[in-house]
Amino acid sequence: MQIPNATSSFSGFGLDNRMLLAIDKLGFETPTPVQQQAIPAVLDRKDCLVSAETGSGKTAAYLLPTLQHLLASTAKPLGIQALILCPTRELAQQIFGQCQQFSEFTPLKTGLITGGSDFKKQQAALTHNANIIVATPGRLLEHFQLSTAYFQQLSLLILDEADRMLDMGFSDDVLKIVEQCNKQRQTLLFSATLTHFGVIKIADKVLKNPKVVALNTLHDVHSNITQHLILADDHDHKLKLLANLLTHKSFDKALVFTNTRLRADELHNSVRGAGLRSGLLHGDMDQKDRNRIMALYRDGTINTLIATDLAARGLDIKGINLVINFDIPRNGIDYIHRIGRTGRADELGVSIALVKSTEWNLMAGIERFLKQKFIRRTIKELEGSYKGPKKLKTSGKAAGSKDKNEPAKKAVVKKIKVRERDKKNVGKRRVPSEKPATE
Ligand code: AMP
Repeated sequence: MQIPNATSSFSGFGLDNRMLLAIDKLGFETPTPVQQQAIPAVLDRKDCLVSAETGSGKTAAYLLPTLQHLLASTAKPLGIQALILCPTRELAQQIFGQCQQFSEFTPLKTGLITGGSDFKKQQAALTHNANIIVATPGRLLEHFQLSTAYFQQLSLLILDEADRMLDMGFSDDVLKIVEQCNKQRQTLLFSATLTHFGVIKIADKVLKNPKVVALNTLHDVHSNITQHLILADDHDHKLKLLANLLTHKSFDKALVFTNTRLRADELHNSVRGAGLRSGLLHGDMDQKDRNRIMALYRDGTINTLIATDLAARGLDIKGINLVINFDIPRNGIDYIHRIGRTGRADELGVSIALVKSTEWNLMAGIERFLKQKFIRRTIKELEGSYKGPKKLKTSGKAAGSKDKNEPAKKAVVKKIKVRERDKKNVGKRRVPSEKPATE
């Protein structure tokens, strides 16, 4: 078939001409915000965690770079290269439809595996004629009764509407399927919200060092987690506040986060010195020690765990109803991961952030990212002198707190931005741009 040259601002991504032609045929002129951010990351072979709602153009945001990878792979495709899991038949049909449209001018074949349609035809797609499979988890697992070897050559796994999939009770099914997929694959997780406990848990399990694309969409509040903030004068003041909270607050299990292993060691010693039942969990400990500490924490022998972010990934323990951020995390997503350890399903939880003056702006950025104001509280006998910045910008950050190097830093950032813009040159934008959330 003669493929005419296609022109489109999608060409800035370096997509195959056959896809650009299909995009033109569909009348897409400009990438939507989620496409602008996710497509380059997926093309870069990064695992991605993306917050995107239906209607944002999320399907094309993962389909286009997926098809690009498949078309660019020089090796003759063996078996199924991409698997897209989604919660409902209707959505699967829509994705299947879009996939066929985008791949119309290519030799790639897509198979649809959902309940209510012909099992034998689906078997054929699985065993010999599809490069891409769009499926709902339940029906796909029925096919696993015949074989589980379909996805051993998989290059890409995409979990679409992960939050809905989990709400519909597919968590175990999804994990069973993921287990049968090639371990060297790239994984993309799309969800309307990133603050969903199940999503956090599954993201920990299936994604490796993901690029987070968090658009200003929905970061819905954990309605069962009350989020507090206590101002602290300095490090020593924080240590006193921590000891007070762990001694006087009632909780079943408390989890205290630090940004570094050294700080975790220090807190652990300090808390143990105060006679509290605490354990330490950080990435440098060997697995045997970690398992031992986890068992003690799980069975309640110790009721406080001091942990770093890395160590707490995947931590799924019942009864954690107090999370203390001794150090403020570096960004909003880490914050969500931390507080998501409490307030599971039907449990209630409290999170408390200890904030000193140098952490104010970081905390304000997180509040803005979550579109939430944390409840300010004090501990009467430990009230400090720091009351927050005298003047605030509209962003909630401290006014006039620029450091001396700020103009130089800004100049560097500007240069990088100009370079990136020149490199990408993604063309004019038809859809109004959505600002990425502050992190
Ligand atoms: P989705 O969020 O993936 O369900 O997409 C919502 C609708 O937007 C679908 O009908 C797509 O065909 C359409 N769409 C996706 N990307 C674009 C784009 N860049 N320009 C115009 N329409 C788009």
